[in-house]
Amino acid sequence: MSSDDSKLQEKHKVKSQKHKEKVDARVAKAKIERGIMLVITGNGKGKSTAGFGTVTRCVGHGQKAAVAQFIKGKWECGERNLLEKNGVPFAVMGTGFTWDTQDRTADIEAATEVWNQAKVYLADPQVDVVLLDEMTYMLGYDYLDKEEVLTAIQNRPKEQSVIVTGRGAIKELRDMADTVSEIKDEKHAFKAGIKARRGVDW
Ligand code: ATP
Ligand code: MG
Repeated sequence: MSSDDSKLQEKHKVKSQKHKEKVDARVAKAKIERGIMLVITGNGKGKSTAGFGTVTRCVGHGQKAAVAQFIKGKWECGERNLLEKNGVPFAVMGTGFTWDTQDRTADIEAATEVWNQAKVYLADPQVDVVLLDEMTYMLGYDYLDKEEVLTAIQNRPKEQSVIVTGRGAIKELRDMADTVSEIKDEKHAFKAGIKARRGVDW
């Protein structure tokens, strides 16, 4: 090894040691043990997949998760096929809200039905993670009672974590959350005319 190389290596070692010390100090500071509220919003792709990824993590640790989906998809949901087989209950819309419907009353009925089941999950201390997929729209459009939803999330069991996904999360959701991620839309294949793909988009 040349002396330049070993100098570089030494510099790198000192830098990573300093970085490690900083990270260790921050880790040592995090002492609170409780479930978190996570909001994944923004216009970019990856909100629901991140939510389901977390549910998968939870199940992989032998914990219990539950999913409420607030939009009736055009396609079957790959995650549901897998997770239901692994004991994850799903509350899904029978009828009503899709991007195509214009029937507000039917949409509200459908949303309320899913919400009633979601409330059961949010009150169950056995459930470690609750995913409320696409729920942001239900509050954005006033399909569900804001106060009721926020209160149910707030009053959930201490160890339970909750994930809310969807575009345009209202301020109250962001304020209440412990973690908020805004996924930015830089590019999307669909805009270049590429069809949504099974196994990638649903
Ligand atoms: P995903 O389910 O892939 O994680 P998402 O939850 O972030 O996506 P949604 O707004 O729920 O996004 O949209 C669901 C569908 O729309 C998916 O098929 C996704 O690929 C597609 N989609 C997401 N973002 C965009 C975008 N910016 N432009 C076009 N299509 C999008
Ligand atoms: Mg989504």
